[in-house]
Amino acid sequence: MSVRNAREAQPSWGATPAAERGAALSAAAAAVRDRADELAKVLEEETGRPFESGREGVLAGAGTLAQYAELGPVHRGRSLHGSAGAADFMIPEPRGVVVALTPWNDPVAIACGLLGAALVTGNAVVHKPSERCPRTGRLLGEVLAAHFPPDVLQTVDGGGEVGAALAADPGVDVVAHVGSTATGRAIAGGSRAKLLLENGGNDPLVVDADVDPAWAAGQAALGAFTNAGQLCTSVERIYLHEAIAVPFLDALCGLAREWNADPQPLVDQRHADAVHAHVSEAVAAGAEVLVGGEPDGRHYPATVLTGCTPDMRVWTQETFGPVAPVRLVPSFEQALHEAAADEYGLAATVLTASMAHAQRAWRALPVGTVKVNAVFGGAPGGAAQPRRASGTGYGYGPELLDEMTTTKVVHLGQPG
Ligand code: NAD
Repeated sequence: MSVRNAREAQPSWGATPAAERGAALSAAAAAVRDRADELAKVLEEETGRPFESGREGVLAGAGTLAQYAELGPVHRGRSLHGSAGAADFMIPEPRGVVVALTPWNDPVAIACGLLGAALVTGNAVVHKPSERCPRTGRLLGEVLAAHFPPDVLQTVDGGGEVGAALAADPGVDVVAHVGSTATGRAIAGGSRAKLLLENGGNDPLVVDADVDPAWAAGQAALGAFTNAGQLCTSVERIYLHEAIAVPFLDALCGLAREWNADPQPLVDQRHADAVHAHVSEAVAAGAEVLVGGEPDGRHYPATVLTGCTPDMRVWTQETFGPVAPVRLVPSFEQALHEAAADEYGLAATVLTASMAHAQRAWRALPVGTVKVNAVFGGAPGGAAQPRRASGTGYGYGPELLDEMTTTKVVHLGQPG
């Protein structure tokens, strides 16, 4: 029903001048900014994300909407050199109906990106937020939809089965899914639409021998523990050069203890159990817990694990919790070699004082984003393409406007 309504609403929205679509999105961005406190409060109630951090995510989402409001109207095609007397050009057109399936871990910022790019390019959108934060999703939908004609943006409640039915609906032109790799694969098996899949990561952090161990431990803690490890680009495995192992681990353990003074709950008990299963299996297979490892309901402590080996699930799969698994390596080369041999391809970070190592690393790592000497950050508009198990297509940045449109080639000849 929602897809049918979207199909009916799309043609007139697609024919609306691009500047007017941009203006509508700009007003929607302002409304999200105005309601940021309310959204952050509901988000905290539903997912445990602390209010201030959630508010930052909401404001980031409003910023992304404002950016697409500006970029949409200047998204353009090309003119071509045909015969004299003819005009030839390529023009982007909306794809039609976009289904957006979004996760709970940064739900407003992520939804704003997909929805903003899809709407400003003239698509109608059916958004299904995560069942773990339905009230946040509904509130966002209500705030945004007020700025668009009826049925141009609809928000649908429900879990995976509703998402699967939407993704398989033949009336849908694009399915944009941000979420786990398992779900992305299930969607790919059941949908005939164009797919944008921004899925899980298993990001390595490579720590070279020549860096300040205390600084490197600070980067590791930030990467592994921020948002209780519930970020797609969290540090998931640490390759530590054995030359600085002792001071690095001392510093990392100290930081983990500080983090544990004010722990953030995980989204729910089911997720806390899943994180603990990774840690307990690793311990049973010989890893050692230096700090943490003991859950308290939904609260999972910042945990430092050493002695990890490449066959452990905590090493091969995304844990998505505040866990820093460490493996000692005798050389930078070996770290790069092992880091690259992974199923996922989202992002990676390398900490090194050597320009030669930095250059070797960004070329060798088969991931969408390589960060050198900073676990987070990066310039605005840096839209990476995930690889392999981490998905396909641009999910962010100006290139998302290309994904949400399709190009028509036009040849205008003279009447005979
Ligand atoms: P999820 O895949 O379980 O859920 C995401 C959305 O997909 C939800 O709306 C859910 O209802 C829906 N869904 C679930 N099963 C479905 C199915 N069979 N068919 C269609 N839709 C279905 O993911 P999650 O647990 O909400 O989010 C955490 C995951 O998201 C982590 O793996 C994280 O790395 C990933 N993530 C990736 C990015 C990125 O940009 N790559 C960003 C944020 C989160």
